[in-house]
Amino acid sequence: MPSDWAFVSIDMELTNRCSTGCLMCPREAITRPEGFMSENVFKAVTDKLVSEGSLITFSGMGDPLSHQKVFEWIYDIRRKDGDVGIVINPASLNRNISQRLVESSPNSITLSFPSLRKSVFEKLCPNVSYEDALKRTLELIDIARGNVGLRVTGIITDINSGEQEEYVSFWKERGVGSSMTVCHGRGGNLRLQEIYAPRSIGLESGICSLFQFHTFVTWEGEALACCHDLTGATRIGNLANDDVSVIAEMKRRALKNSMPFPVCGQCDEALRQCPVPQGLPPKGRKERSRFFRSVSQEEFVARS
Ligand code: SF4
Ligand code: SF4
Repeated sequence: MPSDWAFVSIDMELTNRCSTGCLMCPREAITRPEGFMSENVFKAVTDKLVSEGSLITFSGMGDPLSHQKVFEWIYDIRRKDGDVGIVINPASLNRNISQRLVESSPNSITLSFPSLRKSVFEKLCPNVSYEDALKRTLELIDIARGNVGLRVTGIITDINSGEQEEYVSFWKERGVGSSMTVCHGRGGNLRLQEIYAPRSIGLESGICSLFQFHTFVTWEGEALACCHDLTGATRIGNLANDDVSVIAEMKRRALKNSMPFPVCGQCDEALRQCPVPQGLPPKGRKERSRFFRSVSQEEFVARS
């Protein structure tokens, strides 16, 4: 059981490099160093998180499948009875990678497939054709079926509003759960008027519930408020070097007033409005799943 809400969910960046070039991804605004997580950082961070009982997700603004240790590390966390998911995109897939990914046995795979409308997909993901992406996705779905839980996620932007129903039913027919989330500004970093207009969600409240149960860890082990911090300005500590209690205390201090980080003042991420966690962190996997289900329901309510 996590010692603090801060370690219930951890997004871990194996790398912040990616060559996919999605339109809705403001990677060009990253100013903190770019690189790949080392073995030493991985071991120091995951030893702490596995003993905390955290749900670790390999994600962030980089391509986790481009890290040469990704499959070994998923397997390693699972072997230690830890929980690890991964967020991937179809541009990085081929049959061999899909097979190795499934064999490494993550708890879950989240595959980002922005839109089922070909013109929208190819506008949002100009470096991969719609046909190739769909073929690779269906191949992974086949390989994962019965072995690893897989979910597909899309994005609602100003050029595909109203797609949600057809999207969910397409994947349902293929036996896969899916959802679409509303494009947000990634902490004010996304400035693309043709697909997204800034909203005011949560800005007036000054709080962020997500910050309370979720922490982002960079490839260097830096603990940041979340993945929308592209500069490193929300640094809370370094999980490779600092004890979890130090990071938890820093987060508690940050929460005493309204969110103290400039990036939060421009953040229209709907999850910042989910209910503030109450009481002790979830005791085990079942309680944690229940908690996440309640959060995603609230997210839907916040966006509908
Ligand atoms: S695949 Fe992910 S990290 Fe890479 S450009 Fe697209 S959204 Fe950004
Ligand atoms: S308010 Fe937004 S930028 Fe700040 S921690 Fe929450 S999700 Fe991240």
